[in-house]
Amino acid sequence: MDTSKSETLFQRAQQVIPGGVNSPVRAFGSVGGTPRFIEKGQGAYIWDADGNRYIDYVLSWGPLVLGHAFPAVVDAIQQTAANGTSYGAPTELENQLAELVIDIVPSIDMIRFVNSGTEACMSALRLARAYTGREKIIKFAGNYHGHADMLLVQAGSGVATFGLPDSPGVPGGTTANTLIAPYNDLDAVRNLFEANPDSIAAAIVEPIAANMGFVLPDDGYLQGLIDLCHEYGALLILDEVMTGFRASIGGAQQAFNLDPDITTLGKVIGGGLPVGAYAGKREIMQHVAPVGTMYQAGTLSGNPLAMAAGLATLTELRREGVFEQIESRAIQLAEGIRAVMAEFDVPAQVGQVGTMFGFYFLTQPLASIHDYASAKKFADTDRYAQFFHGLLEEGVYLAPSQFEAGFLSSAHTEDDIDYTLAVMKSTLASII
Ligand SMILES: *Cc1c(COP(=O)(O)O)cnc(C)c1O
Repeated sequence: MDTSKSETLFQRAQQVIPGGVNSPVRAFGSVGGTPRFIEKGQGAYIWDADGNRYIDYVLSWGPLVLGHAFPAVVDAIQQTAANGTSYGAPTELENQLAELVIDIVPSIDMIRFVNSGTEACMSALRLARAYTGREKIIKFAGNYHGHADMLLVQAGSGVATFGLPDSPGVPGGTTANTLIAPYNDLDAVRNLFEANPDSIAAAIVEPIAANMGFVLPDDGYLQGLIDLCHEYGALLILDEVMTGFRASIGGAQQAFNLDPDITTLGKVIGGGLPVGAYAGKREIMQHVAPVGTMYQAGTLSGNPLAMAAGLATLTELRREGVFEQIESRAIQLAEGIRAVMAEFDVPAQVGQVGTMFGFYFLTQPLASIHDYASAKKFADTDRYAQFFHGLLEEGVYLAPSQFEAGFLSSAHTEDDIDYTLAVMKSTLASII
């Protein structure tokens, strides 16, 4: 496979953009090699600058649930753009997308649009703090909620529960109010509440931990979390930036029958344009300015192009049978991966919910990954890197990291999945 143009472009990019990329994982740091510079996408495929075609299971990290350049989405953007790209004043498109999301996602009465998942989570926490008059928050090790200072913290090794920043530049004071618990461990959460009974505003959680690979919540874990939060007068923020419109059409809250206080959304809601949102119960959302006093704003928030792309995407996704078809492809792929791994006796953990999937290569046959510590301990990142490159060479584009989820779109065909599984098989045969 000729990748000389991507190599040249990457060299040039590194002169002017830190690491040559505008978001770190894109640099292939954890798998090595040269990131492909993408020139176009159509349906389930992307083409790089050298003209190589790949079946895309990254889909811009989740948003493109209808595949690349879906005609109704492109039309909506073009027609909207012809009337101007932004006004800084309200539009009917914002009402329409708000009404549609409220109709689709069970717990949501009101919604505020922002421009990214990061902004959504940051604002949701400000809202929870404003609403409860409390300052501490609980986050879970290995969960990702964007790059806001107070959330850039996992578990400081040696300090079990106090927040130590993961990145230089994050003041210790900013994360001092961020308490950390392991994922899938309700006792740890209860201990935090018992130690801080009147000062925790909210817990924020990924309903499926899909930024450390793909870890499902244990049965009853998420409902237990909601109950604990309410017992101590705190709110539960369900971060559905990734699972929204993917775990089921109504998100993980519909898939797992949950009623969170606040929900954060991103990715699919913008149909491939930059959109995030925080949303929830009317009584809580009424605290947001200008009706309430919690300040949050955005020059381009509710941008008409982004609203139009989101509306076109959710409208199509909601059409009879569309979601189910994508889900059936995800099941076909996950079951196929399980079978291939079993055939070669390779220890692996494979997961799938709705239109999302993920898998780990395990370093030990009977290991099970259920939280961040076990993910770091048992995930075989070397084998993943080899596998990743084997697939890439044959035109299958997975996330360039073991600790990311994969995605299907309505454009992926049974043949695409069959081809992918055949390549997985031949790649495994050559690397083990
Ligand atoms: C992607 C993601 C975010 C951050 O969204 P950005 O749009 O990248 O800022 C937050 N939470 C979860 C669960 C995510 O997957």
